[in-house]
Amino acid sequence: MNPSIIDALSKCQIGLETILGSWQNLVEIESYTHHPKAVAKLCGFVENKLNDLGVTTQVHHFENAGPLLIGHYGSGPISDGIILAGHMDTVFEDDFIKSNPFRVEDDQVYGPGVLDMKGGLNLIFYIIQILKALNYTKPIKIILSGDEENGHLHSDQNLLIEQESRGYKLAFNLETGLIDNKITIARKGRLACRVATKGLAVHAGANLEDGINAIHEMAYKILKIQDLNQKYDNVTFSVGKIKGGTVPNAVPDYAEIDVDIRYEKDHLKQHIVNDLNDIISVNHVSGATSEVFFDNEFPPFEDRYNQKAFEFIRNISAKNGLGEIAPVKLGGSSDASFISRAGIPCLCSMGVKGQWNHSNREYALASSAAERLVLIVDSILEAEKVESFL
Ligand SMILES: [Zn+2]
Repeated sequence: MNPSIIDALSKCQIGLETILGSWQNLVEIESYTHHPKAVAKLCGFVENKLNDLGVTTQVHHFENAGPLLIGHYGSGPISDGIILAGHMDTVFEDDFIKSNPFRVEDDQVYGPGVLDMKGGLNLIFYIIQILKALNYTKPIKIILSGDEENGHLHSDQNLLIEQESRGYKLAFNLETGLIDNKITIARKGRLACRVATKGLAVHAGANLEDGINAIHEMAYKILKIQDLNQKYDNVTFSVGKIKGGTVPNAVPDYAEIDVDIRYEKDHLKQHIVNDLNDIISVNHVSGATSEVFFDNEFPPFEDRYNQKAFEFIRNISAKNGLGEIAPVKLGGSSDASFISRAGIPCLCSMGVKGQWNHSNREYALASSAAERLVLIVDSILEAEKVESFL
């Protein structure tokens, strides 16, 4: 391992106990994505910690979404600057911690959001502290969203992340680290869509022929949508939720489905939208009508800017004895999509390693915190020698 980083760790007295202490603080301030005030409380805690470290901060508030925190450290041209990104919200509802408290069992750390991504959030404090101890002065920008887990549904943080990222040299997204040590260089985009069918309600026994069955129509729609899975490579369609009808003896006049669509390349989105419009334009049940709504979207995190950055970090990992790193493309979304949209090379899943995020089995490996600290800090130091990652 880079001896100057090890020196800085001991000089700053950063040991596992210290790391676990602030990690516990972060987990114990629950920050459910649909509870903006809770996320704001955590944001206040993070902001204070960063200010204490000499990071200047700016917080964007939103009425129905957790805040977006932007932090600046160092100075100089941003073309030399590094982005540390992540999110402060979790998928866990308030008080979930009562049944799943923060605790450490052997090397496994538990608690809501411990892995996704309070563990990564926690690393940012120590990365800054070590860089400071090493007299690193180039710009570091911290971008922490407050509504990533709901896809920025009630804010424009996606656009702000893209805007804030422009012009920087390299970004690390400290999302959920993978247990197999892989680093994410691409993620599928996600498009959420809702299809509604409308018919005419009548008594199912007395005058069935006069009714128009919206569920019957929806059955055709579902098959057509599921069939789209055969049409493209690496585009998936999944009808994940359905509702419709009132009682068994009435012909239903309304049905609705939610569809989850994942795609690898940005340009495919328009084809997908066209396909769904085609499907709703043809109705099989006489008199039925249909509509499609596109609710929210996470664009794909494409790998086109990330090859050089990946080779770079693979070497840093080997040099520090942190194991072989392989690249991976994932189905799940992250804010790396918006950083990448700004044309910035970005490595994702850089946070602490663990498994089963978004479930009550979620855990992180305590020992991976120090590994990732060394990996990220040494990457930042070595990046000074690289003219450009593009
Ligand atoms: Zn996450």
